[in-house]
Amino acid sequence: MWEWADDSTEQEFFAVNRSMHDRKGPEFPAVCPSCGQQSMHWYCYISRPQKGSVWVWCHSCHQYVHFTGLVPEQWEDLKDLDLTNGLTLDLLNQERDRIDKQVDKFLQS
Ligand SMILES: [Zn+2]
Repeated sequence: MWEWADDSTEQEFFAVNRSMHDRKGPEFPAVCPSCGQQSMHWYCYISRPQKGSVWVWCHSCHQYVHFTGLVPEQWEDLKDLDLTNGLTLDLLNQERDRIDKQVDKFLQS
């Protein structure tokens, strides 16, 4: 169901992640660079100090990227995600409304 982003979309998704470190990210859900729908999301799960698992994905065209990277300063992930079945893109996508709120709060702080 989920597909790794094509080359140009991948670059745009990486750019979105970089913008989060400058707190210049867009309002989420943001416009997907591939399909043009307002359905792009970003999330960083903090796995250990300063290291995180990052996802950028689109819930319309189902493209995504996922990698380990630095956690943006003062980012706080959601502490109450149900990780019983692991941290998956399906889970993040189910929780995307809460995630977007958390990200927007971070960008506005
Ligand atoms: Zn898309």
